[in-house]
Amino acid sequence: MSTLHTLSFDHSFSKLSPLLYSEVKPTPLLRPYLVHYNPLAAQLLDLETVLPEELVSFFSGQQLLTGSHSLAMTYSGHQFGHYNPQLGDGRGLLLGEVVNQKGERWDIHLKGAGRTPYSRFGDGRAVLRSSIREYLCSEAMYGLGISTTRALAIIGSEEAVQREKLERAATVVRVADSHIRFGHFEWVFHNQPSLLKPLADYVIDRHYPLCRDSDKSYTALLNQIVERTATMIANWQLVGFAHGVMNTDNFSITGATFDYGPYGFLDVYQPSFISNHSDNTGRYAWNQQPSIGLWNLNALAYALSPLIDRTEIVEALGRYEQILVTHYYQGMYAKLGLDGTDDKDSELVFEFLDILMKNNMDYSRSLRQLCEVSQTDKHCKLRDDCLDRERFDGWFNRYRTRLGSQYSTDSQRQAAMRQVNPKFILRNYLAQTAIEKAERGDFSELDILLTLVHRPYDEHPNYERYADLPPDWGKHLEISCSS
Ligand code: AMP
Ligand code: MG
Ligand code: MG
Repeated sequence: MSTLHTLSFDHSFSKLSPLLYSEVKPTPLLRPYLVHYNPLAAQLLDLETVLPEELVSFFSGQQLLTGSHSLAMTYSGHQFGHYNPQLGDGRGLLLGEVVNQKGERWDIHLKGAGRTPYSRFGDGRAVLRSSIREYLCSEAMYGLGISTTRALAIIGSEEAVQREKLERAATVVRVADSHIRFGHFEWVFHNQPSLLKPLADYVIDRHYPLCRDSDKSYTALLNQIVERTATMIANWQLVGFAHGVMNTDNFSITGATFDYGPYGFLDVYQPSFISNHSDNTGRYAWNQQPSIGLWNLNALAYALSPLIDRTEIVEALGRYEQILVTHYYQGMYAKLGLDGTDDKDSELVFEFLDILMKNNMDYSRSLRQLCEVSQTDKHCKLRDDCLDRERFDGWFNRYRTRLGSQYSTDSQRQAAMRQVNPKFILRNYLAQTAIEKAERGDFSELDILLTLVHRPYDEHPNYERYADLPPDWGKHLEISCSS
């Protein structure tokens, strides 16, 4: 157990090659203060007592953590389908790695730490709004059981930064198993091919040690990344999460959801939902995510092609769809309480989704309401939300009959369904309310939301209204890349 000033840092990434980063110190924030702190993420680092003044001092850049050698990473990547040869950490710094008592290695990264050689025209800062969005959503994904980076704290400041309007700068402290992105391999492939093997070996040793045992370890590595990426995206689809900016520099090599920007969760079930207001063509629309995941894996595989036979690349990428679809189907069956053994189970799932879509019904709430159905119900509460009730009744009768063929009682199935259908979703309007309060210096909403998103499947009787559908003002919030 340790405190912040006794954290012990390691720097395995920086030993790879100095070409992969630039050493940069954080630029201190003006008049910093603590916005929020997340004890669950502190546990990952075995942090025991964490004092607010230490968080502020170390993560505003005022003071450096002992043993931390902060660096900005070099990478490139495909943004909206176009290769950008020079990206890199323009506003984030890797402070170092901490190995906890379980032997897990965690990167600590400070996002919004000031200018770096990769900042181009940017100011190197993050605003309070986007820091809160990253903080809440990484913890929400964790609560939903989806692989993700984590967030330890947000530090606010009085420093003004220009976005669409004048905002306040902040930092968010990200804790992640890795900060290596698909874009790292793309940069190395194009600029320092001799580093391709060392980087792949590093990723294997650190993240995929079992691949060492394979006689074709790089093929095994690609297969593993394909599997984790496919599973991550299937999980996004199951909870109705839209990432918003699926550029290859925002894709982690470990299959963790990474870099939260203009994301959104589905309210009504509208598959063509675009969470990112700047995404004019809908490249990253919710229903495009599975195919974009494969597109990104293609870009990664191209960068790895000097290390892997072509036929093996084709085979590895060929497995993606099967893995994703299998995981997605199993997840949807579980959400509806079906065991998936009847040919008609998939029809029941997709007709249900089609009913939601045609009737503008809410995705997560409708599924949660299904958990309350019992086999003897003649009517289901959900029916009231549906315009085409005749169609709903037809579906519901078939669904009830099918449940009856699987279970003798309801309670066990209902309990299992509640474990996979969250009651509390980080809808944009909830995040927006927390942001507006925080911008006025009131951080109480963050306490509530963090509690709810950490346990989204449980009942929280005092906070029922946080499961409400968005009010009119919160239905079509415009969230853009500007952050
Ligand atoms: P993102 O859209 O956050 O994934 O960022 C894409 C690229 O732009 C990355 O290389 C970032 O480091 C860089 N970037 C984003 N915002 C800023 C900023 N305010 N200052 C400097 N660089 C930035
Ligand atoms: Mg990014
Ligand atoms: Mg970002």
